Amino acid sequence: MGTKHRKIEIGQTYGRLTVREYLGLIPYNGTNRNRHMYRCECSCGNFIDLPGTYIGKAWKSCGCLQKESREKPIPAGTRFGRLTVIEPHDLIPGRGYRYKCQCDCGNIIISRGDMLRRGEVQSCGCLHDELFRENSKIAYKNSFVDGTNVPRIASTQTVQRNNTSGVTGVTWHKGTGKWRASISFKGKSYSLGYYTEIPLAAKARKTAEDELFGDFLKWYAEEYPENWKRIQKRQQKKHP
Ligand SMILES: [Zn+2]
Ligand SMILES: [Zn+2]
Repeated sequence: MGTKHRKIEIGQTYGRLTVREYLGLIPYNGTNRNRHMYRCECSCGNFIDLPGTYIGKAWKSCGCLQKESREKPIPAGTRFGRLTVIEPHDLIPGRGYRYKCQCDCGNIIISRGDMLRRGEVQSCGCLHDELFRENSKIAYKNSFVDGTNVPRIASTQTVQRNNTSGVTGVTWHKGTGKWRASISFKGKSYSLGYYTEIPLAAKARKTAEDELFGDFLKWYAEEYPENWKRIQKRQQKKHP
């Protein structure tokens, strides 16, 4: 054989890699030369099979380290919905940077960069609270008399369709030269931020919709179980 066998301990950690298992003398990555191969677990959660001679030397992670060093940090001052990025906070292996952000309401939160970029986080939670309060108030006023407005909310039909993007709640904003995401409810409009691309704005809108209507319906079902049962029965009749 003649293959040099570097002593690799199972359970030993090299950089982000922890050696989990010896796989035997087998070919590496399509080459026909047999190597002493080990299965390693990266601290990001990924597994990778590597020759013993590479572990902790050419390879210190599953590849996530290189990916992170290529990731351009989000500049301070960048806005995502109501949030303004202040500075990078820490680095989560395999997930990239987390950022300290200030919300328009004054709260400071720590948020993952990838979630900010995808429009999944757009406030400290205050936007959600506001929408929820507004909904609860309206439901309280209306549902005692008649619960028929709830199915309308559930089917998200309350929003008008007068936009330029083809996506409900996403409109072109001349002032900023960006796509504005918003959600309106009973005549009140809530801004969800400005985005360079329609899909990002659409995502922000979808998140707000899920928060608004999802939590609202949960709350409604608990608060007015009788009404809720009636509404569900009626909807089943309409869409069996
Ligand atoms: Zn990794
Ligand atoms: Zn806030």
